[in-house]
Amino acid sequence: MVEPAEVDSIVDQLAREQPSMYQVEVHPANWELCAPEGQSVCPGLRPCYPDHRRQNTQGTTWCPTAGLRRNQRMAEAGAAGCIAHPWIMSTGTWDMLRRARAVGIEPFVFDERGVLAKEWFG
Ligand SMILES: [Zn+2]
Repeated sequence: MVEPAEVDSIVDQLAREQPSMYQVEVHPANWELCAPEGQSVCPGLRPCYPDHRRQNTQGTTWCPTAGLRRNQRMAEAGAAGCIAHPWIMSTGTWDMLRRARAVGIEPFVFDERGVLAKEWFG
């Protein structure tokens, strides 16, 4: 089985090898920052609230909504398509697919066998 980070790396490398076909943009989430106080984080998500931050094994805290905010920024930036290979528990990937579809970006979802799914339910 290929881990999600490996898939990202493979796709990044393939795209960079064909610059005439693909424009690579990197959109990292800023896990250290919360949404500005009192502001909606992004559509479909409530603002950051007290004690929502999570802690990793090193004791550093991070904002669990940072990835969703990053997804919204990517959707709003636009794209010709959104290729995804989500697992059942890939909440961030499913969120990205929903946000992409909401702004009219065509989703291409590959199932656990690597087969392009004809239908998906996000
Ligand atoms: Zn937060």
